[in-house]
Amino acid sequence: MSRRSLELTDAVYDYLLRHGVRESTALSRLREETGRLPAARMQISPEQGAFMAMIVRLMGARRVLEVGTFTGYSALAVAEALPADGHLTACDVSAEWTAMAVAAWRRAGVDHKIELRLAPAQESLDALLQGGADGSYDFMFIDADKSGYDGYYERGLKLVRPGGLIAIDNVLWGGSVADPGRQDDDTRAIRAVNEKLAHDMRVDVVMLPLGDGLTLARRR
Ligand code: CA
Repeated sequence: MSRRSLELTDAVYDYLLRHGVRESTALSRLREETGRLPAARMQISPEQGAFMAMIVRLMGARRVLEVGTFTGYSALAVAEALPADGHLTACDVSAEWTAMAVAAWRRAGVDHKIELRLAPAQESLDALLQGGADGSYDFMFIDADKSGYDGYYERGLKLVRPGGLIAIDNVLWGGSVADPGRQDDDTRAIRAVNEKLAHDMRVDVVMLPLGDGLTLARRR
């Protein structure tokens, strides 16, 4: 019996990608393009994209919210899994990075499912709430500035329906969260959210060692 997740050597990880991820041509092209950027490490991993697409299919999700779109890989993976009338609201502040995203969504033929909101995500989420979108989302993915996580999560809890899911990325932050020597703002912000979610009775929670750590919080 295994007590914890296997350490992924390069060989094991390559094996996992070859056998466990069916990446579309559009996704692999976008991943390679983004991989050439200096900020490439902000892109989610292929197995994480496949995992979120699986969740969307399992939930029968139709309405998805994303905070932190970057060059569009996660939104593309999810949009491919949404039904034809599915809708994804993508929030980001970078016109430069999301231009790559929009081009990739068009190439993949899913751009009609995605609405990009180019503004600070807190404002976009507040606007959705003011517009009466409470409880109207099935799934939300949070992967943006770490100091904003708590605010995105609290708004997300209003925007997703009971039974809906909020996925939060980078919750292990390269292991920094468990290193008392690390006291930078991002690490402390992630630690605070992790601590809160561990005891938050409004949600069911599981933290997965996927990528840089992914927490799933299901609204009760
Ligand atoms: Ca991330």
